[in-house]
Amino acid sequence: MSETILKGYIIAIKDYQLFDNVITFFGEDNRVYSLLSLGSRKILSKNGRNMKVGAMIDFEFFKARFDTNLSRLKKLTIINDVPWETANIDIIEFLNEFLKKGNNNFKFTTYQKIMKMISENRDMSFISLFSLFEIIKSIGLRFELNGCAICNYNKIKTTSIRFQGFLCEQCSRENSEYIYDTDVNKIFYFLSKKYYKKIFKIKKSDRLIAIAFLKTFINIYH
Ligand SMILES: [Zn+2]
Repeated sequence: MSETILKGYIIAIKDYQLFDNVITFFGEDNRVYSLLSLGSRKILSKNGRNMKVGAMIDFEFFKARFDTNLSRLKKLTIINDVPWETANIDIIEFLNEFLKKGNNNFKFTTYQKIMKMISENRDMSFISLFSLFEIIKSIGLRFELNGCAICNYNKIKTTSIRFQGFLCEQCSRENSEYIYDTDVNKIFYFLSKKYYKKIFKIKKSDRLIAIAFLKTFINIYH
């Protein structure tokens, strides 16, 4: 085992045997690591006290020679603490579960951006929309938002999970697709163009519909 130091966010903490934990973190090298943390559930453990989902940590650990073996934590030092259990925030839970599955190009810097927005108490519906859209990009899912996903026509009527993108009036009728409110469709367009400020002009109930759409979209295709 070789000693490694890496910055990262804790995304999961699990109890292991009597006194130990398995701690999972998303590292600055865009990879997810699981570490065995011996003795961290003992009352006097310094490492144990510093463990909180959402905290940014300097991890010192002994890297296992094979990916199938658990690496072993030596020491963790808090860089950025979180004043609450971010694990309980719905979108962070969703994002952490997603990262644990692997097979994506999600960037550490994007995660950092999201955590910053949370610490600044930014609007949670916006943070959710932003995060979910970044997830879709990171798995390379097709999400056609430049025109109708079937015929390419540029007058849009709704957004379809089945056809992975916008649909024009005729294509949505022919496929009996659910018709979303124009403002819901606009949210997806604004996200793709990074017109973030425009999203706030759309009412909250439509933002919540868009969040539910994106979550279903990811759950179906990932
Ligand atoms: Zn069409």
